[in-house]
Amino acid sequence: MSKQPVTVIGLGPMGHAMASTFVDNGHAVTVWNRTASKADGLVAKGATLAQSPAAALSASELVILSLTDYDAMYAILGDATDALRGRTLVNLSSDTPDKARAAAAWAAEHGAQYLTGGVQASPVGIGDPKTFTFYSGPASVFEANKGVLELLTGTDYRGEDPGLAALYYQLQLDVFWTTALAWLHALAVANANGISAQDMLPYVSGTVAGMPDFFGFYTARIDAGEHPGDVDRLAMGVASVDHVVQTARDAGIDATLPAAVLEVFERGIAAGRADDSFTSLIESLKKPSA
Ligand code: NDP
Repeated sequence: MSKQPVTVIGLGPMGHAMASTFVDNGHAVTVWNRTASKADGLVAKGATLAQSPAAALSASELVILSLTDYDAMYAILGDATDALRGRTLVNLSSDTPDKARAAAAWAAEHGAQYLTGGVQASPVGIGDPKTFTFYSGPASVFEANKGVLELLTGTDYRGEDPGLAALYYQLQLDVFWTTALAWLHALAVANANGISAQDMLPYVSGTVAGMPDFFGFYTARIDAGEHPGDVDRLAMGVASVDHVVQTARDAGIDATLPAAVLEVFERGIAAGRADDSFTSLIESLKKPSA
């Protein structure tokens, strides 16, 4: 039996890697991209370039979307809604949970099934089963397409609510982008002191590698709503963050990021939590006015 045809719409680095993986696995792949030239390499290896979004939808029941955001999906498919009936859209683009829920309703209005995906891999991780993607939407739709989707990455099905995969994805990116910028900030301070990124690599890697233990220690306390200052006190934390800010300023480096951290710590102190753990700041974050 021949393999299921797949359409991929959006050929940035991610969509390109996905379409390439489907071709490598023997699927008939149809692609469409606003900038058509990005399909050249894929066409050379056997993919078909659709002449319009409607033609791309008509070519395969399973349609993967890999776009900058959901607005791009409406920009592309808004004039091709007649071709949505009977399709299964798997949207692997980043956006908010609310946008994902609205997109699922929009797809249903036009007779299409819909899954949300949040890819936890870079383009080089596509095709590697050790990476994974969060999925949500109807379980039956996920199960029916799981085998093909697992050619891209492993899968982690989060539930029926189409917003859930987007939510889990954004929660990881909340940690990822802030951590990645903290790394760049530390490197800027290091460079200003004659220390290279390479010199820093083992140390910063060690700090990040210690984070799972750190999270593990505090997780049960946070879930219990308990923030005792037996291991760390917010009064210590605020002084420590202030030292980070001052070290950056002394080196002539932008201190916006640690200053934002300091501002949250200071709000915790102002709320009377000096003797509690820094984890009590979650209460300040939940109620920005408190
Ligand atoms: P890019 O932003 O490089 O590519 C996005 C695609 O969206 C391109 O095909 C682009 O078309 C298209 N596009 C954007 N706006 C419009 C529009 N208004 N109309 C038509 N087409 C549009 O993204 P990536 O490929 O890197 O990523 C795709 C998705 O995957 C994103 O949501 C990203 O957040 C997510 N992601 C990316 C990762 C990465 O490491 N790159 C990792 C995990 C997730 P054109 O080529 O014509 O510009």
